[in-house]
This record gives sequence, C-alpha cells and structure tokens, in this order.
Amino acid sequence: MAPRIIQNTCPGWRHEAPKTHAPDDATKHPKHTHHSPMKTLYAARYLLDDSQPTAAWIENGHLAVDDAKILGVFGPEAPQQPEFNDFTRVDLGNVAVVPGLVNAHSHAFQRGIRGKTEYLVPGREAEDFWTWRQAMYAAALGYEADKVQQVSKLAFMEMALSGISTVGEFHYLHHQPDGQPYADPNELANRVIAAAKEVGIRIALLRVGYNRAGFGRAAEDEQRRFVEDDVDTYLARLGDLRTRWQDDPLVTVGLAPHSIRAVPENWLRAMGEYAAAEDLALHIHACEQRREIDESLAEYGRAPIAALAEMGLLSERLSIVHGTHLADAEYDLLADARPSIVACPTTERNLGDGFLPAKKLVERGVPICLGSDSHTNIDLWEEMRLVEYHERLRYEKRNVLASAKTPRTADVLWPMGAQNGARALRIPAGTFAPGNHADFVAVDLEHITLLGSDADSLLPNMILSMTPGAVRDVFVGGEKIVEGGRLTRLPSRGKTI
Ligand SMILES: [Zn+2]
Repeated sequence: MAPRIIQNTCPGWRHEAPKTHAPDDATKHPKHTHHSPMKTLYAARYLLDDSQPTAAWIENGHLAVDDAKILGVFGPEAPQQPEFNDFTRVDLGNVAVVPGLVNAHSHAFQRGIRGKTEYLVPGREAEDFWTWRQAMYAAALGYEADKVQQVSKLAFMEMALSGISTVGEFHYLHHQPDGQPYADPNELANRVIAAAKEVGIRIALLRVGYNRAGFGRAAEDEQRRFVEDDVDTYLARLGDLRTRWQDDPLVTVGLAPHSIRAVPENWLRAMGEYAAAEDLALHIHACEQRREIDESLAEYGRAPIAALAEMGLLSERLSIVHGTHLADAEYDLLADARPSIVACPTTERNLGDGFLPAKKLVERGVPICLGSDSHTNIDLWEEMRLVEYHERLRYEKRNVLASAKTPRTADVLWPMGAQNGARALRIPAGTFAPGNHADFVAVDLEHITLLGSDADSLLPNMILSMTPGAVRDVFVGGEKIVEGGRLTRLPSRGKTI
C-alpha cells in the first residue's frame, strides 16, 4: 500500500508540487529565486530524526532552517509553536527528507572515460587493467582547462540529481598538457571548484601532492600534469588555494598525498604536520591493490597502515581511500586511531580491486564512508548497499554487518552515506544536528521503487532498492539545487550539456 499523501490545510503553506515535466528551456539560465535567505520551516511526510544512534522517522515532521544552517527537527505540532511564527512555511509533500549524501572520494575528470575502457587490448590480454589506465592517462593528458571544467560539471550534475550534496574532490590534475604550470598554478583546481559552483554542490577540494612514480623511481612523462618538485612548492600553492576560496561558504580545502607510492617520506610528514596545525582534512589512497603493499614493505619495512602510523599520520583526521587489502595486524592500528576508510565499491568492482573487509572494520568501530571515485556509476545508494552485499557474497550469509546491538542492516549502512563522509571531509553536514549546513534531500514516496514502504521498511528500501530517480529535491546551504528531479541552475539533460 502506498503511504498516505499528506493533506496539510494550514493556511499560509506553500505546497511544493513536483515539476517532473518542466521543459529544460525553463531552467536554462541560472536563477537566484530558489534561495530563501530567511527562516524556513519545511514539512515532510517523513523526516529522519538522526539524533539517536539508530535513526527513526518522524511522521509529519518539520525541519527548521535558519538561512543556510539547520536549527533542528520537530514533530507535527511545530507549526502551532510561537517560536516558528516568523518562519516561512514550505510543505514538501509526500516525501521522505534525509540529510544530503556526502561523496567522500571523486576524480571528476574520470567521468570523461566512462564506457571507454571495457575491453581487452589484443596482444595484452594478461593486462586487464591496461585499457583503464591508458584511457585515464589519455584523458588526464589531453584535457584542456575548459574540458576539465565541462567534464567535472557533468559529474557534479549527476551527483546532485542522485542526492549528493557534498563532494570530496581528490584533485591531482594540476598542470598544462605539456607539464608546465598554468599562470595560476591552481588553475585546474579553480576550474573544478567553478564546476561545482555552477551546479550548486558543496565541494571539499583535496589538493593532491604527487612527486614520483614510486620508491626510487622518478615521475614518468605521463605523470607530468600531476607532479610538483618539492613539498614547499606544494604547500605554498595549497596556501594560495585556501586564500582564494576562504570566504566561499560552499568551498573548503584539504590535503591529499596521492599515495605512499607517489610521495616520499618527507612529503608525508610535512603534509601531515600542516594538516594537523591548520586543522584540515588529510586523505590518501592506500591498500587498493596488492602491489602497493609490496612497495611499502620495500621502502619502509612495513605495510602502508603501519608505515603511516609510524610517521604519525594515522589519526581521526586521516582518510584512507580503499583499504581493500589489510594485514591482520593493521586492524588493531585502525581500531585505535579511528581514521576514516573511504570505500568505493562500484569502482573497486569495475577495476577488479577486491572486496572491502567491511565486517572486520565495522566490528572494530572503524568509520566507513563512500566515494564514487572513477564515476563508472554515480549513485551513493548503490555504494551503501554494495558494502553489505559484497560481504554477503564473501561469507555466503545475509545481514553480515548487522549485530545484536544494531540488528537492522540499513542502520549500519546509512551513516556511511552521509555523516561518516562529512566526518572524513571535516564539514559540519551529514546529520540534522543544529548548526550543521542545511543540506538535505527529499525523496519521492510515490516513486515506483518505493511504493509499498511503511515507516519500518522505508530506510531499508531507500538503501537497498531505490533508484536515484526517486530523488525529487536537493537543498545545499538552504538553496534548492534540484527541484522535481531537475537541476535548478542548469539543463539536466540533452545536447546542451
Ligand atoms: Zn581515487
């Protein structure tokens, strides 16, 4: 049975009907009428109350927003309370409202190679990874600044339409195609940020440090757009980037040594110290493929997690992207230091990396968050469900991540899609805690994949079965950037993209 459609007769409510058939021409030009620079009380059929360890729905709930920040979640009686007298009332209708999803790991330009790597090269059949790597480098070497911005915009548009309100962009494409820095060495980082701002999505630009091909190996020619000569140059450019965007409420900047392979020890230590001193996010690729473990053993005599711990980098500030291949001794290090693990299961399945050991990580209380990484798919709902489903295939069991303490699988997966990603990016978002950014998503309860849901089955259905087309509205900092399944600032489809 379909959930009951809310009938709100309170005078003064503006009903927000879905505009699923609005022609794209109507939204071709950026408009600024969607921003409500005032206090607003949003009504929804279901509103997620995530103030407890296990989230629950408030039926006919109200979300109070003061311009760009969350004030709190309230029950059906909120409209009668005097404290909301001067609030604008917006009835979102028959929707479920949840915090916006946080995509903690993206390489936006890789959206440009989607579908172009799915074949073997005759004569190189043993190198299954080859076509992907060659296509990625061809894109990375060939894209001029305009193309980088255009492809990034495409990735961010798809993110917004699927309910992602924040992206962590792991940005390593720095220089001109010939390897020379642009007049502004942060030109391409600025272009990627500009693409996010065109769409209206929040961005944490994780500026990547890249210096070499590997232990004892200088950078290769095809890495010329990524590399910088020394860590002081890197840190100076990072400082310039921070200054450039310091007053923009949608933009933050963090640090990202590309991997243990791509920077030497003095870079890792200097970047870790800078991040700690300035209280910034620190992200690194680690333990994605087995060869990388062998290189770390050769250079440091330790596997990557142990090497990072020895250098003082392993802390709650650090995010380890992938964490697919972990040695037994490394789980205890992770449990003690509680860095974030950023899993990217749709990319890991596409590249054949392996399965995230999610059960062992969850049992030890290590926070897992998610990224769409190479953008074969941009669907954080799918990333959430794969964390569980890959473990079901490994263990040949159901509800692997659930436990006596948290018996419902969806309650384990939901924080991975939102609050854990915000933690990894060090952004106040991902929950409806007062003071957080007003980033939230309204999901259409009349969408075909959700019909029949009730309060008990709704969250499991959203995470395990819903398709992104059910996402109706997306708000970032209180501004509606998706309305009725369409972007408000740009056309959502067609040749004009
Ligand atoms: Zn990556």
